[in-house]
Amino acid sequence: MFKTVLIANRGEIACRIIRTAKRLGLRTVAVYSEADAKALHVKLADEVHAIGPAAAAQSYLAAEKIIAAAKAARADCIHPGYGFLSENAAFAQSVADAGIAFIGPPPSAMLAMGLKDRAKALMEKAGVPVVPGYHGERQEAKFLKEKAYEIGYPVLIKAVAGGGGKGMRRVDRHADFDTALEGAQREAQSAFGDARVLIEKYITAPRHIEMQVFADTHGNAIHLNERDCSLQRRHQKVIEEAPAPGMSAALRAEMGNAAVAAAKACGYVGAGTIEFIADGAGGLKSGGFWFMEMNTRLQVEHPVTEAITGLDLVEWQFQIAAGEKLPLKQDQVPLNGHAVEARLYAEDPERGFLPSTGKLIALKFPDGEGLRVDTGVTVGDEVTPFYDPMIAKVIAQGKTREQALGVLANALDTTIVAGPRSNAGFLAALCRAPQFRTGNFDTGFIDANLDALGATPQGLDKAAAALGARELLTRERARIADQIERDADAARSPHTSPWDADDGFQLSGPRRQIVPILADGEKVTAQVMQEARMTTVTIDGIAAAADAVAAVATSDSVYVLRHGRQTKVAFRDLSLDEGGDGLGGGTVRAPMHGKVLAVLVDEGASVTRGQRLAIIEAMKMEHTLVAPLDGTVSEIAVTKDDQVAEGAKMIVIEATKD
Ligand code: ADP
Ligand code: ADP
Ligand code: MG
Repeated sequence: MFKTVLIANRGEIACRIIRTAKRLGLRTVAVYSEADAKALHVKLADEVHAIGPAAAAQSYLAAEKIIAAAKAARADCIHPGYGFLSENAAFAQSVADAGIAFIGPPPSAMLAMGLKDRAKALMEKAGVPVVPGYHGERQEAKFLKEKAYEIGYPVLIKAVAGGGGKGMRRVDRHADFDTALEGAQREAQSAFGDARVLIEKYITAPRHIEMQVFADTHGNAIHLNERDCSLQRRHQKVIEEAPAPGMSAALRAEMGNAAVAAAKACGYVGAGTIEFIADGAGGLKSGGFWFMEMNTRLQVEHPVTEAITGLDLVEWQFQIAAGEKLPLKQDQVPLNGHAVEARLYAEDPERGFLPSTGKLIALKFPDGEGLRVDTGVTVGDEVTPFYDPMIAKVIAQGKTREQALGVLANALDTTIVAGPRSNAGFLAALCRAPQFRTGNFDTGFIDANLDALGATPQGLDKAAAALGARELLTRERARIADQIERDADAARSPHTSPWDADDGFQLSGPRRQIVPILADGEKVTAQVMQEARMTTVTIDGIAAAADAVAAVATSDSVYVLRHGRQTKVAFRDLSLDEGGDGLGGGTVRAPMHGKVLAVLVDEGASVTRGQRLAIIEAMKMEHTLVAPLDGTVSEIAVTKDDQVAEGAKMIVIEATKD
């Protein structure tokens, strides 16, 4: 076995790997960027090495720096986690060349499976069913369009080098093909430095079913059952579970055999995942699944497999990299109960799931029977625009699917995330969605049910805002009472509290007040009734909520968490109300931190409402900014490749006068 492992990653997965490594008696070495100097994975490791600036390209993707750190720490192995360099064959080769073991497959297997077109060709040869489509060399737009027509719509355009749902476009009509191709190519070029695409038949009622495989260096390969990852948004997984609803033992064996054949065909070693797309119409069935891709690494959702098998997949990875044989034979692999994982993200479901950055003012996870939480952050940490904004994975386990989903929903209800917005409420709604509960769903489920899942603007939660206002007032009252005690001259002190009145502050006697409040950016007025120590607050006649999960105060605001939503409440300073920058409707602002990919209009151009103005990229997605009204472009404040901060002015449209 190894003595020292360097973890070439960050966040929850780095922490999770460190945990197992320590249990196995390994010394652990973390690497970190400037943005992560105080991160949890740095605190957990035995030894730490700084590797550069926040931008991943200069730190977590800087192969030479990581290998230098490994040498300096005398690490005898490197675990790459997922994302970053985990599927980079050149990195795996450099690690091996440095005399260090790479906890993953040989570079040749990564190369064979790294590009989707080559992988599909190899799978065809190995007799593994692949999705019908075109995965050849030719890339001319006209040719690809003809191919799409031959395959028959709907089709899916995919980046050959793709990952993380990027560079993918579904096309339903021939007329839309060119625009979609352009978008896919641009996204692929910017994300992977490779614009090549392939075209697949879009499987209707698609279910994403993947098989966890393991192979050792002695020629053995097995699978550890399937995971169902059909709950997706923009081709990215949201909730994953094992086993798959509706899976039979016979079909599991059939898919498992295909997966093991796929692993053997590329000379695989270690942990890998074969992703299949299955036709879910009328239920899973023999012959109704096709190879999509292989992920040659540990998968984000591996904990659900650990839950139903009772195995530690990271431990297996270490053992196999150390040359040991697979610990179990196929027929010894356990499958007990049911497990579900939810990816808790710092994002705002009500605003198109925009990433939500900022400081984590409060963070608390429930614990209990059948629950596991994998996280890489703690209170006070910052969710930055530099990395994936996942806060945690919450995994629930039960004897049955019903039970596991119940445990998960309750856990999400009592999870506290304040500061950045989170998708906790959305995830809980998903766990409770009746149709999902029946197991009758496909990858289109989320998009088709956004409204029911609360992922559309819900309007201000006035009960939460009233509660927040009451908290603000109570806190301020305590502060003033404090001050009165300390300061004999308190009645004339120059503070500007809403409790201030010409008649001076009094601790007793009923008082009515109107307090201007800013709730989630919205101007509202709180009606306050103060009697003795009781404060009653209403907003538009709605009383303060009694069922909030938390009300977290900072120096100037209160964050109320209720029904999975966050409402931020602050006193409104009336003197600022007139100020502002005259935004009217004509100023187009960056909806988040990001990079300007393209500006599509020129100054002076006339535009119509809804017309595309610019494209900005943040985290893993492109966002198109459109004209809010008919008018003329009077100012363009950004140029291509600019980094813009959330709220930054980008383009100004002067309304057409009529
Ligand atoms: P999984 O199937 O495990 O969910 P994903 O494809 O969603 O895998 O990717 C896993 C992780 O790797 C995610 O954190 C994602 O952000 C990251 N990732 C995936 N592909 C890339 C890529 N090409 N470049 C950078 N990060 C990626
Ligand atoms: P990535 O490398 O980005 O993970 P995948 O090829 O694994 O790309 O596809 C991501 C998701 O897109 C799948 O999980 C599935 O939901 C959907 N998808 C992929 N191919 C098809 C297809 N041919 N038909 C329908 N949906 C598909
Ligand atoms: Mg995939």
